[in-house]
Amino acid sequence: MKLLKKFSYVILIILLLSSQVVIPDFVEEASAQSLKDYRTTLEELKQKYEESQDKKELTEEEVAQARDEVAKIAIEKEKLEEEIEKLEAEIVQLEKQISEKNKDMEDIIRYYQLSSTGEDAYLEYLFTSTDFTDFIYRMAIAEQLSDYNNSLIDDYTNLIKENEEKKEEVSKKIMQLEKKNKELEDKIIELSAELSTTIEGAETIEDEIARVEKKIKEYEKMYEFYKCEETMDYEACEAKGGESNLLPPGTAFYRPVVSGRVSSNWGSRSFILNGRPYSDFHYGIDLATSHGKNVYSAANGKVVEVINAKSQYNKTGKNVCGGNKIYIEHNINGVRYVTGYFHLATIKVKVGQVVSYETVIGTVGGTSAEYWDNCSTGAHVHFQVATGRFITYSNFTSNSFNPRKVLNVPSLGKSFSNRQTKY
Ligand SMILES: [Zn+2]
Repeated sequence: MKLLKKFSYVILIILLLSSQVVIPDFVEEASAQSLKDYRTTLEELKQKYEESQDKKELTEEEVAQARDEVAKIAIEKEKLEEEIEKLEAEIVQLEKQISEKNKDMEDIIRYYQLSSTGEDAYLEYLFTSTDFTDFIYRMAIAEQLSDYNNSLIDDYTNLIKENEEKKEEVSKKIMQLEKKNKELEDKIIELSAELSTTIEGAETIEDEIARVEKKIKEYEKMYEFYKCEETMDYEACEAKGGESNLLPPGTAFYRPVVSGRVSSNWGSRSFILNGRPYSDFHYGIDLATSHGKNVYSAANGKVVEVINAKSQYNKTGKNVCGGNKIYIEHNINGVRYVTGYFHLATIKVKVGQVVSYETVIGTVGGTSAEYWDNCSTGAHVHFQVATGRFITYSNFTSNSFNPRKVLNVPSLGKSFSNRQTKY
């Protein structure tokens, strides 16, 4: 009985312990584990770079063509608008001529009647005129003149009608041009978005190539030093240098800030940035908190990459999306993970540094004070987690998963005030 009791305690403890163990079922075999894998990754990146360059050129060409067309449309539109003005001026002129002719007609009628009151004038004429043939002559002339004027007025009226029709045609053309112009403007916006890197944390392929090349050089030295085969797992090779080279184990993930609010979830989202609508897939979870607050490593591990966007910006003038970034590798219950922390105001760790979940790695940024970061609108830390190891941003992102699977975080918009327990 006593033994059974003891046994059940052991079972209970095992159950309690196992409930703490986080090994998600989606964990797959990590890619790039040996020097050879790194070399393959480099080749793939170079190929991707060639392709992207070709695509970039094509996109740039398309943008240039669209801009050309927009410029041509503007000129054409201006011409058409001038044509409309001309047609309108002609209509005004013709209307003026018609009214002149109408006035002429009135004069002719007056001449013919010799007074403004028809029959009276005729009678008056009969009584006063001494030369009847003069009257007949006047009538004939008047008739001819009015016929002539009438046909002129008809001509003018027809011309006005023609001009009105032309004007309508030209207006239609202008409307078509405006529609085409709108289409082109939309296309330019879309293509320009393709050309710009607004994905949170994304690096250019050139940067990724440089990063992998640097890593290969480091590993080449290490592989040579420990006499490892090219295909040997780099961690196994590293371990030849002693236990201290291994990742410090951990059992759980902790929220990287002590307090905050979930401001953006993992997944598809739409948002407004610099007045323009964007939609993307958010590969992490955003934790909003005050600027300057400490950011901790989410678990025990080793810093594998530090990207100092501030110094890059000061050197090159190029600002990036995601700002200062830190990547840390972890061994949680035997499974390899990488965590990423973006939009940091400051960085407090170095590559190779062993950290615990209590190590302050940097401080929260993401405001306009981080002038080197072009895609954050408020103080927050972007926390992203992936299986495997860190090679490049693209690789990290393709291995990323919803942090909620390993991290206890409240729902969107909700706050927390410590690093692990229920909020
Ligand atoms: Zn984010």
